[in-house]
Amino acid sequence: MRTDNQRRSDNFQDRGRGSGGGGGGGLPAAALFSILRRIGIRGSLIAGVVLAGVYFFAPPAIKQMIFGALLGGVPGQTQSVAGEGSTCEAHAEACDFSRAILGSTEDVWRAQFQQGRLPNYGVNPGQYRDPTLVVFSGAVATACGNATSDVGPFYCPADSFLYIDPTFYQVMQDRLRAPGDFAQAYVIAHEVGHHVQNVIGATQRQVQGENQNQTSVRVELQADCFAGVWGHTAQASLAIDDADLREALNAAHAIGDDALGHSDERQFTHGSSAQRMRWFRRGFDSGDARQCDTFAVGNYGQL
Ligand SMILES: [Zn+2]
Repeated sequence: MRTDNQRRSDNFQDRGRGSGGGGGGGLPAAALFSILRRIGIRGSLIAGVVLAGVYFFAPPAIKQMIFGALLGGVPGQTQSVAGEGSTCEAHAEACDFSRAILGSTEDVWRAQFQQGRLPNYGVNPGQYRDPTLVVFSGAVATACGNATSDVGPFYCPADSFLYIDPTFYQVMQDRLRAPGDFAQAYVIAHEVGHHVQNVIGATQRQVQGENQNQTSVRVELQADCFAGVWGHTAQASLAIDDADLREALNAAHAIGDDALGHSDERQFTHGSSAQRMRWFRRGFDSGDARQCDTFAVGNYGQL
């Protein structure tokens, strides 16, 4: 892929280094993954700080709940997370790349909204509203509460901002074995997918008789599919080729719940590696977000 001809989005904030929140610098997510590997999912549910890791790429609704319960409202956790300095000074290339991908998602989703090529959830979404991408280092204050890099990239529906610490790209390459520029682009496109869900009213969906984890899996797989739709539509303008597609599928595989060490399907919140690859692929092959209606799949087992 190439981004040199792609417009850079101005819906971008460089927040710099936040303080407090228990995060800090370095590669917190890297530490998290080594902990996850050692103690497994059951242990991680007990350890509050590790809990954050379960949420990487987490669905907005659950995220909001967690930020409120675990980070936002905890007595004594009043440290400032106001950003200081610049994140992009040390991560110029990652920031520029992220702005290019964000610009491309804006181009793609504006057109998709204009053409009404979206799943219908009973709300008229109107025109696409651009989200804002915030890059930060270590910790950040959001309308969903304070967060550290441990949670990985995420979307906050309360402010329509996407948050990413660029060190996560390194984590993908080194710890998740998911290298490549298109793998990184997929991460941004997935979070933008959550924003699209927010605008079209998908995040309020619930299938009768299903629990929160199952709803979460449907939300996450749809975001993967939307990321695929973006990839399909941007294929020509970004010169996306087969090797790029393989990078994204490899990344989708790497962040499947089973690949991250969860063996009990009932604990899945994001879908298995196979499911994440399949739904990304579905969006990428069809280029049609209406094919991404994970809520229309009646039988959860057939997702
Ligand atoms: Zn997600």
